[in-house]
Amino acid sequence: MRAIILLGPPGAGKGTLAAALSENGYTHVSTGDMLREAIEQQTELGKIAEKRIGDGLLVSDELIMQLIEKRVSDAAVDEQFVFDGFPRTLVQAELFDLFCVRSHAELMHVLVLDCDDDIIVQRLSGRRVCRSCGAVYHVMYNPPAKPGECSRDQCDLYQRVDDEEDTIRRRLHVYAEQTAPLIAYYEQKGKVFRINAEQEIQQCLDTVLTLLRKGDNQ
Ligand code: ADP
Ligand code: AMP
Repeated sequence: MRAIILLGPPGAGKGTLAAALSENGYTHVSTGDMLREAIEQQTELGKIAEKRIGDGLLVSDELIMQLIEKRVSDAAVDEQFVFDGFPRTLVQAELFDLFCVRSHAELMHVLVLDCDDDIIVQRLSGRRVCRSCGAVYHVMYNPPAKPGECSRDQCDLYQRVDDEEDTIRRRLHVYAEQTAPLIAYYEQKGKVFRINAEQEIQQCLDTVLTLLRKGDNQ
């Protein structure tokens, strides 16, 4: 398996990009989506995650690593993964490196999405998600054809509990403290490409696809 990691603050556009990359041959893995599914099903993990997510805090490294290992354990040798929202701590990054060695997987690139905090607050407060398929919209920047309704499957859109302003600020703080240090970690390994995530959605996608195609041809 080969992997790319999307790294950036909440709301930078990781899920949006990853969903587009999934239409270009990549398998999209979102730990956030997996946790929300567990919450929906009220599993043991879901009950723990519900409180942590609602408070804008991270779920433990141990639980996240269990989810990831289970998700990628039966990957095909030539499968290409895009990780959205993982890793989020140095411990997760180090454990993922060990996992890659053990399973002969290769981390290709870490794409760092740069985006200003004020833009992030605007993006997250306008984010709407499909209750059924998880498709992500924005009331202004990526609206559904019909307000409040998913354009793919016509199910209801909802606003995430952690997309409320106070929780957004807490999540930005958690990002700065626990996740931003990963940029230096991966820079030392020569894996980082920085993307201006303040561009429009299509421009961000074009930039990333051009970069990945260049990487493939090297
Ligand atoms: P993340 O996965 O990083 O938390 P999302 O992909 O869910 O971020 O995007 C957050 C919100 O911003 C969503 O409502 C999405 O539609 C919107 N969005 C994503 N990328 C852009 C962009 N480049 N320009 C404007 N809005 C965007
Ligand atoms: P996301 O959908 O990526 O914005 O994630 C939503 C929430 O899920 C985060 O705020 C965390 O509480 C939790 N979460 C998702 N991924 C991770 C991770 N890799 N490590 C710890 N917590 C995570």
